[in-house]
Amino acid sequence: MAQQDEVFKKIVSHAKEYGFVFPSSEIYDGLSAVYDYGQNGVELKNNIKRYWWDSMTLLHENIVGIDSAIFMHPTIWKASGHVDAFNDPLIDNRDSKKRYRADVLIEEEIAKMDDKIEKEVAKARKRFGESFDEALFRQTNPRVAEHIAKREALHERFSQAMNDNNLEELRQIIIDQEIACPISGTRNWTEVRQFNLMFKTEMGSTADGAMTVYLRPETAQGIFVNYLNVQKTGRMRIPFGIAQIGKAFRNEIVARQFIFRMREFEQMEMQFFVRPGEELKWFQQWKEWRLRWHKALGLGDEKYRYHDHEKLAHYANAATDIEFQMPFGFKEVEGIHSRTNFDLSQHEKFSGKNIKYFDPELNESYVPYVIETSIGVDRMFLSVLCSSYDEQKLENGETRVVLHLPAALAPVKCAVMPLVRKDGLPEKAREIVNDLKFDFATHYDEKDSIGKRYRRQDAVGTPYCITVDHQTLEDNTVTLRERDSMEQCRVEISELHRLIHDKVSLNSLLRKLS
Ligand code: ATP
Repeated sequence: MAQQDEVFKKIVSHAKEYGFVFPSSEIYDGLSAVYDYGQNGVELKNNIKRYWWDSMTLLHENIVGIDSAIFMHPTIWKASGHVDAFNDPLIDNRDSKKRYRADVLIEEEIAKMDDKIEKEVAKARKRFGESFDEALFRQTNPRVAEHIAKREALHERFSQAMNDNNLEELRQIIIDQEIACPISGTRNWTEVRQFNLMFKTEMGSTADGAMTVYLRPETAQGIFVNYLNVQKTGRMRIPFGIAQIGKAFRNEIVARQFIFRMREFEQMEMQFFVRPGEELKWFQQWKEWRLRWHKALGLGDEKYRYHDHEKLAHYANAATDIEFQMPFGFKEVEGIHSRTNFDLSQHEKFSGKNIKYFDPELNESYVPYVIETSIGVDRMFLSVLCSSYDEQKLENGETRVVLHLPAALAPVKCAVMPLVRKDGLPEKAREIVNDLKFDFATHYDEKDSIGKRYRRQDAVGTPYCITVDHQTLEDNTVTLRERDSMEQCRVEISELHRLIHDKVSLNSLLRKLS
C-alpha cells in the first residue's frame, strides 16, 4: 500500500509539472477540493468528453444531447428529494478536529475485514496448490469462517442503520468496532450529524426578496424537466435517451484523493426513457454497453469490475457501479441506475403539469421509466492518468516517464522536430506542421537535444514524434517514432497523415463499439 501511495503522489506531481492539473487558486494557498485543468489537462478532458458524447449521440439514433442551465427552479430540488435527503452523515474527532463521513469509516472497516479474509484464502491457495477447493475452505476453515461471520454481522448492522437513517446507531457501530481517528489515534468522537451537500446562493436583489437557489448537485434533473420538450420537438419515440455534459457541485465533507472527490466537478449523464416494465431489460443492456465503452480504451480489462448495490435508493429498482482499480483501490467511476418513474412523477406532482408520454403503439399515456448512466469526467480522467503513468528503466540505465495514454485521448497527437536549428530543417518541419495541424493537435519543438525532446513528449503521452533531418531535404522522408515501443521507422512525408490517423483518430475507437 505504501508503495501505491508513493506512485499516486508521483502521478499528482506529474499532473502538475506537465500542465494537466493545478490546485485551484494556488497563489492564495489553494481552495480545498477544487482544481484547474492546464494546457494538456483540458485537451485530455475534452477528448474524454468527445469520446463519450459521440458514442452516445452518433452511435445511437435515438439519443440526442442538451445543455441545460446550472441554476434551476429551487422546487426542482424539493421534488427530486435533494433538499431533504441529499445528506451525508458526518462525525468529528474531538482531538484531531478532523471531520469524517461516518458511513465511510465503517465501510473502510468492512474493507479491512475483506482484506483479512482474502489474505487467508491466498495463503491457503499457495499452501494447497492445484488441489485447493476455495469454496470448501471458506466454509470450513474456522478462522476464515469466524472472520466472515463477523464481517456479515457488521455489514448487516450497518445496512440497517443506513436504511433507517439511524445516526445514533452509526455512532454506536464506530464505538463498538473501536474505530480510531487515523490522525489522533483516539476514539473521542462527537455525535453523528446529517449534512446537506448542496451549495446555496441567492438570486435577485434582496430588496425584492431574493430567492434561494442551488448549484446543481447533478446534471440529471435538467434532463428530466426538459424531457417532454425534447420528445415533442425532436419527435422522439420511446425508447429514447437524452445526454448531457456539465458541471455539478457538492459540498463534500471529506474531499480527498486529488480529483477523485471534488467540490466542483463535471458529469456526463444520459437518461434513457423506456416503457414501464421494460426497465430491467434496458438496465442490463446499458450495464453491458457502458463496460464495453470503458474497455475499448485498452487500459486493461482486469481493472474494471461491477459493484451491484444491495442497498437501493428508495426510487431505484436496480443499481450498479462500474469500479476502476485506482492506486488507492477499486473505486466507483460510473453509476448505472434504474430510477423507475420516480423523478418524472415527482416533477408532475410538484409542478402540477401533465408530463406523461403518449405511446402511439400502445395508444396510452404513461410516465416513462428511466435508466440513467452517470459518469464523472474527472474520475474518468484520473483513471486514464493513473493507468497510463509508467516509469521505465531503459537499457542505457536512464529512466523514462511515459504516459501510455490511449492515442485517441492524448492531448498532443504528434510533435515535429528538426534535428538541428539550421540548414533549412526548421522550415521543412514547419511545412509538415502546417499540413498536419488541420487534422491533429501537432506541436513544433526545436529546443534541446532530440533525446530530451522525445522525453518531454513521452511525459505528456504524445503517440508520435516526427524528426526532420538532412536526408528529409533530399528524399522527403522523415523518422517516425512511436511512443510505447520507441521504435523508429523511415516514412514518406506523404504517408504521415494516413499513418497517424489510423492510430489516433476517435473514429477507430468508436468503431470498436458498434
Ligand atoms: P460517491 O459514492 O463516490 O460519493 P456517488 O454515488 O454519490 O459517488 P453519483 O451521485 O452516482 O455518485 O454520481 C455519478 C458520478 O459522478 C460518480 O460515479 C462519479 O464519477 C461522479 N462524482 C460524484 N461525486 C463526485 C465528486 N465529488 N467529485 C468527482 N466526481 C464525482
